[in-house]
Amino acid sequence: MNPGKYSMGIGDRFGHQGISQLRAINEAEEKGIILTPVWNKSNREHLITGTSPEDVRKEADDAIRATGFNRPYFVDADHINLDSVGRFITSSDYFTIDVAAFIGKKASDDRVNDFLSKAKNYTGTLKIDGIRAPFNVTPDYLERMSAKYLQAAFMAGEIFRRIAGSKGQKEFVSEISIDEVAEAQQPSDLFFILMMLSMEKIPVQTIAPKFSGRFNKGVDYAGDPQKFAAEFESDILVIKRAIDEFGLPPELKLSVHSGSDKFSIYPLIGNIIRKHNSGIHIKTAGTTWLEEVIGLAISEGEALRFVKELSIEALKREEELCAPYKDVIDISKEKLPAEDLIKNWSSQDFANSLRHIPGNRRYNPDFRQLIHVAYKLAALRIEEYISLLEINSETVGECVYENLYKRHISGIFGM
Ligand SMILES: [Zn+2]
Repeated sequence: MNPGKYSMGIGDRFGHQGISQLRAINEAEEKGIILTPVWNKSNREHLITGTSPEDVRKEADDAIRATGFNRPYFVDADHINLDSVGRFITSSDYFTIDVAAFIGKKASDDRVNDFLSKAKNYTGTLKIDGIRAPFNVTPDYLERMSAKYLQAAFMAGEIFRRIAGSKGQKEFVSEISIDEVAEAQQPSDLFFILMMLSMEKIPVQTIAPKFSGRFNKGVDYAGDPQKFAAEFESDILVIKRAIDEFGLPPELKLSVHSGSDKFSIYPLIGNIIRKHNSGIHIKTAGTTWLEEVIGLAISEGEALRFVKELSIEALKREEELCAPYKDVIDISKEKLPAEDLIKNWSSQDFANSLRHIPGNRRYNPDFRQLIHVAYKLAALRIEEYISLLEINSETVGECVYENLYKRHISGIFGM
């Protein structure tokens, strides 16, 4: 199973926008960019919306059938671990194995010795083609790498073997994620992490490191874009070397868990992958939900009333809604719109406050982040919500398509 050179993780919290998402993927294909769609939904989202992994499989299969899409597609068990993987085994064929929780945990002495004895061949200066400054690999640095990442690599192996034992080695795509942590991994760290994964015999096809800067959900990158670009390019060169050096799958590529809407770095990512002819997996997370809210707002009437009520409720329950996402959002409470303001908004005021158009003076990134995590409130009124989505499906679908194609795919792939 191979996700191809370019693949895109598309999120869809309520499972109604598969066809509009495929429309964006098809539009890209017409412009010469072949993207493999990967539907992803994390265990956290399933728990909050009360859905199951089978629902995502059904949505993907139905959308594929309805549109006659005839290329490979996948269903991603996003950010699973040993405890949560079980319920995803049958319905998923792409697994994002999240071992961030094991970073810094102690590995067995045997494993530590094995790693250090192999890694010591790299002590001194390690020169990677294309990276100007060689890595300075000291015995001390290798000890630190081992203390930090070796147990996480072992756990990735345990989870991989669990999936392979049930499905068969070749029946799924393996992604390893270590992005949901406080500290970014440097390119040299990535080199040794890939070495550890190869020692666990994991045929890793995509890897999601944590990059420098903030990747908050649904808003733009916070950090120095040029610094990000240098790090991203070095990571790509490290991966090329690691494929040769450790016998990893030739299709191994970076996965960017973008948290969506990283407009200021999308063109940089696009330029670098084209320059090095490398692949990419890019997750755009769950802004499909935000497009649904925008689509309902511009549909006016009942639909606008519903999203206004939901927004006012979200203001009241801000702490509770933000808690599961505290590491990936930054909301300034004082910048959130007041209840009375929301009540008086026109449909366009609402849409312009929420829609991520940086130059629009009404755009409010704090409001956007709050609504991004407020999907639980729609899940609590699910029948009403789904019925509004269905009544206004044309307007909503247009928002979903336009957002994915014009703001995301075009931003990265430069159409
Ligand atoms: Zn992630």
